[in-house]
Formats: sequence, C-alpha cells, structure tokens
Amino acid sequence: MSKNELRQLALDLRKKNKEFQALHSQVAQQVADRFYEARQRFFEGLANKPKKKKPHRYLSLVYPQSGWRLCDVREVGLGKNKKRKARLRLSKIGFFTLILHRELPESQVSQVCIKLHPSGRIHVIFVVEEAEAEEQQSENPKKAVGVDLGITRLATLSDGRILENPRPLERSLERIRMLQRTLSRKKFLSNNWLKTKIRLAKQHERVKDFRRDLFLKLGVLLSQEYDVLVLEDLNVQGLIQKGVTKSRRLRLYDSSFSELRAVLEWEFRKRGKLVLPVPAFNSSRECFRCGEINRDLTLEDRVFRCPRCGFTVDRDLNACLVLLKRAWWVPPFWCACL
Ligand SMILES: [Zn+2]
Repeated sequence: MSKNELRQLALDLRKKNKEFQALHSQVAQQVADRFYEARQRFFEGLANKPKKKKPHRYLSLVYPQSGWRLCDVREVGLGKNKKRKARLRLSKIGFFTLILHRELPESQVSQVCIKLHPSGRIHVIFVVEEAEAEEQQSENPKKAVGVDLGITRLATLSDGRILENPRPLERSLERIRMLQRTLSRKKFLSNNWLKTKIRLAKQHERVKDFRRDLFLKLGVLLSQEYDVLVLEDLNVQGLIQKGVTKSRRLRLYDSSFSELRAVLEWEFRKRGKLVLPVPAFNSSRECFRCGEINRDLTLEDRVFRCPRCGFTVDRDLNACLVLLKRAWWVPPFWCACL
C-alpha cells in the first residue's frame, strides 16, 4: 500500500469504530504515516521489521497541521515570578495550560507532538522550521578544544580541565533495584503495581534528567569559550558490546557518550561553530610529542609515558591533545612548553 492508501485506510477504520473517533482525523492519519515510515526503514534495511505496538506503549500523538490552537496568551505574576501562560486547545483531547519560556513563532509550527512519559509527565513539543545557523568557516577560528571521553573522567579538555564522571545511574541503582523488586511482587496491572511502576519510572527519569542537565551545562560552557570542538569518532554501541566486565558495560552505558556528543555538537552548531570528528583509532596510545604508539598502555595506567621520547603526561590529557593534532590543531600554549 502506498502512503495515501494507508492514510485512507486509517480514516476508513476510524469511521467504522466509535473508539477511534476519540482521535482527531489528522492524528489518525499520522499513525498511518508512522507505520509507513517504519516499513520503509525496514525495506531499506535500516531497521527491524515493524512490530505491533501494545496500547500501553503507545505514548505519543502528533497533530500535523490542524487540530490545535493556542489561545489566551497572558502574563501572570509580578517581578521575578512573571510568566507567560497560554492555553493549548487540542481537538478531541481538551485544554492544556502551558508556560511559554520563549517566543514561539506560531505561524512556523509544522507539527505539535504530545508525549506522555511513563512517569506521567507530559511534554508538548512544537516543531518549528527554522533556517540553520551558518558555520563561521570563513572567519579564522581562534580557539579549539579537544574533548576526550572516558569512564573514570567523563570528559578531559585539552586545556587541562576535567569533569569527573558523576555516574548517576550507578548512584541510584540501589533504589532502582529495590523498586524493581517491589514491582515484581505486586499483582500485575493492579493499583499497587501501577503506583510502583510510576515510582520506578520517576527514578529512571531523574537519572536521565540529571545527565541531560549536566551535558547541556558543559555544552554551553564550552561553546561560549571555544570556536572549534574536536571529538573522537566513537562507535559507542560496539564499545558497550565489547565491554569486558558487567560493571564496565554498566559504566559505559551510564556515561551516555552518544548523548553527550550529540548535545555538545548541537550546542556548537547552534552558535554557528565548527565540530570536527576525528578517527579515534589508537588515540590514547599515541604519543602527542613524537607520534610513537605505546602498545604497553593498559586501561589501568593513568599516566602516559612515551617509551621513545620520555614524554610524560596524564593519560586522558595526552589523548585529547592527540585528537587536536589529528584535526590539525595544535594548542599554542602546549607547543611553547614542549
Ligand atoms: Zn613520544
């Protein structure tokens, strides 16, 4: 079936079934679009075969063009507590009260997505089409920073600053395990089961929020200070699968390198700055000064010592300096003191 046939099918099904009529017609069509895209991705070999989605796992609805309206935009509160509030009317669902944190170009909104999180939190996402910030390649970039990601230290910067890994998941693992055990003792789908399920979801969400907040702060800090970001091109999934021990795999997973990279790249691109991914191969074993590969370096060694030229420096710092070198950027400060 083509995209249009699928859409028509969704509409026909909606006509026949009273329950489906609780959905706005365009929202029903968008469900067909999702199936179409999932199937298309399967045919192109990008994804697994689409599976039937269980009702309790279907957590979002999309209003493509119509069916939603913002009204009653008003300012409330005084001084510091001043907020802009608005009411969002969604066809067939009802009203939401929103707090507007920034200007919303209402005419450019291409779709509105309502997302329900397992913890009960609801997000309304307005997708706005906007021209992309242009990269300032013409201008001579002045400052570059290399970032090496690791487990013990989440990020090491080429200027010598470090960010310890806060391991949010590992810290709340005890609570999560406790809740998971409690959940397994409750009767499936009973009221107490649902309550525990929500408590568990909230705990997981806290971990996720903590991480994202930290990453965003790091991204803002770096992108305000530097013009070029140099990152290693990691295959994180492969790294996790290769992880030797269970605790190492957990720590890799807990560090969320992919998300950290995505947030950092986004923050830089948003400000029109340059992101340079460089090959990660042997980056922690190569000597920054002479290029020798130190094969004896193990994961436990915290200090890098070059067997040829005797260059001795912190292991992670060496790695991110090597990254900078691979991107053809040598920090002037370091050249001077070597
Ligand atoms: Zn060396």
